[in-house]
Formats: sequence, structure tokens, C-alpha cells
Amino acid sequence: MVFGSEEKRSYRMVQIIDGKAISATIKEELKEKVAAMKTEGTQVCLAVIQVGDDPASSVYVGNKKKACAFVGIESLAYELPESTTQEELLSLIEKLNADSKVNGILVQLPLPAHIDENKVIETISPAKDVDGFHPQSVGRLCIGQKGYVSCTPAGIIQLLKRSGIAIEGKECVVIGRSNIVGKPMSLLMLRENATVTVAHSRTQNLKEVCKRADILIVAVGKPKMITPEYVKEGAVVIDVGIHRNEGGKLCGDVDFDAVMPHCSAITPVPGGVGPMTIAMLMNNCVESAVLSKQL
Ligand code: NDP
Repeated sequence: MVFGSEEKRSYRMVQIIDGKAISATIKEELKEKVAAMKTEGTQVCLAVIQVGDDPASSVYVGNKKKACAFVGIESLAYELPESTTQEELLSLIEKLNADSKVNGILVQLPLPAHIDENKVIETISPAKDVDGFHPQSVGRLCIGQKGYVSCTPAGIIQLLKRSGIAIEGKECVVIGRSNIVGKPMSLLMLRENATVTVAHSRTQNLKEVCKRADILIVAVGKPKMITPEYVKEGAVVIDVGIHRNEGGKLCGDVDFDAVMPHCSAITPVPGGVGPMTIAMLMNNCVESAVLSKQL
């Protein structure tokens, strides 16, 4: 999809990166792959564990189950009460680790306060860590070895590649250094040979730092914080943020309407990065099943 802004239309068109369409294509590709694996006797299977009934988590889990059904992945749902003890959860994970039928294990975060998230993540077998959160997966990414990559950053690489946006040699600024988005994102861009700067809440002169970026990836968690003063003319802007305003409308970390005319390409919210996360989760499950056959 391309739009021209009023004042820039004469010399540039802006590419609106369609994450919904790209994620649909990836899911179609995976559906074919899973069907072919089935004819060879392999059923891909994902175990999804939810503790408690946080409404947002229930929506995410529901979407993951729906995507599994579409792609042809069997999903095993474990809906555990809020009162579940850490020991009970860890013993379920151990059981699923040992079950050769299960290719991927996903524990929906956040967990209730009495459960240690790090302990839970570390208990998942690295071979089934389809969320890419296990320290072994993160370490592999860091030293350039093959392994599972956190789904949102992996999805952003797919968005860029499938939109024909070159990464190699480009100046990339990632705002945010969380373990699930900012840090793995910066490592992936480095792996793709970008020159990477990671900005965070203590970064000085953030606007100037961001203005250097050919590719600006925003995972700051602040609605519409990024305005045109942060964006170099012609930059690619990827908005990871998701926020819902009082009216129930979704927006990102980027002020889309103001920034869009200054970009060469930009992701909208909704319909940009969001749909890619589940597509990459499905991809990681299929990869896990392929790898388990090779062992
Ligand atoms: P976190 O809150 O864990 O991290 C936010 C990062 O932004 C931190 O590193 C923080 O710095 C930095 N930051 C905060 N304020 C500023 C500031 N004023 N200037 C510069 N840096 C700042 O968020 P997540 O990484 O988990 O998520 C980021 C956003 O992405 C959220 O809106 C979240 O909802 C969304 N998200 C979307 C997903 C999707 O599928 N589309 C998946 C995951 C997240 P410091 O480290 O110094 O505190």
C-alpha cells in the first residue's frame, strides 16, 4: 500500500508496511508446510499454558490457538487457576519437556506475582522454547548461533525483508532495551549488518540520536511519543508500541499521522508489527518440529 502526503507527494511516495498481509502470507506458507509434514507422519504440536484469567492474556492465548488451528498445528491448552503454585507449574513444564509429541511450550506472561517468571522460562527446554526467551536462546542469538528468536523482533526482520527494505550498512536506531523486544531487535539488526544504536530512558539528546536513523525501530511503550522531530526525512519507521486510548482506539509509540509524510516507509498500528508476532510463533513451532525430526 502506498500513500503520498499532500506536501511531499511531488517527490516521494510513502510505503505503508502491511503487517496483516505479510503475516497472512507467512501463515499460508506454514499451512502448506505443515500439511506436507502431516502426509509424512509428523504432526506439529504447541502447548499453551495460561495461569489465571487476565482478560488481555486470554485474548492473546485465544489468538494463538486460532492461528494454530489455521496453520494446522495441534494446540494443547492448559488453563490453570490463579492459585497454581510455582511447583505445580514447573512440574507441568517438565512433563511437557519430556513429551516427544510436544514441539513448543509457551507460557503466557505475565504470571501471577507468586511465580518467578525467570525460573519458569529457564525450566522450558531450550529445544521447545518457541518464544525465544530462554537464556540459551538469547545467548545463541548474541553469539550468532542458530536458535529461537523472540517473535516480535523476528517478525520485524520479516516485515523489512518482505517489503524490499535493505538493512545491510544502514544506520539503525532501536528505542528500547527490553529483553523481549529492544535487545533481541538490536542483535538481529546487527546480524543483518546494520550499524546499530540502542537508545533508552537515559539516552541523552534522543531526538538527535534518532535523526541519524535510516531505520528507526520504536519500542518505548509511550503512546505517540515519536513526532517528526525524531525522524530523518526518508527514514523507515517501525512502530512496536500498542496502546488503547479511552475511546478503545489503538495507537502506537509513533504519532503516525504526523510522522508518516516524512518517511519512506512506516508500519501502522494496528496492522503493522502486531500481526507478525503470532506468525513468527507459528514459524518457530514448525521449525522445532523439523529440527526434532533431524535429531
Ligand atoms: P518495556 O517497558 O519493557 O521497555 C521500554 C523501553 O523503552 C525501556 O528500555 C525503556 O528504557 C525505554 N524508554 C522508556 N521511556 C523512554 C524515554 N522517554 N526515552 C527513551 N527510552 C525510553 O516495553 P516492551 O519492550 O515490552 O514493549 C514496548 C512497546 O511495545 C509497548 O508499547 C508494548 O505494548 C509493545 N509490544 C508490542 C508487541 C507486539 O506484538 N506488537 C510485543 C511486545 C511489546 P529503560 O530500559 O532505561 O527503562
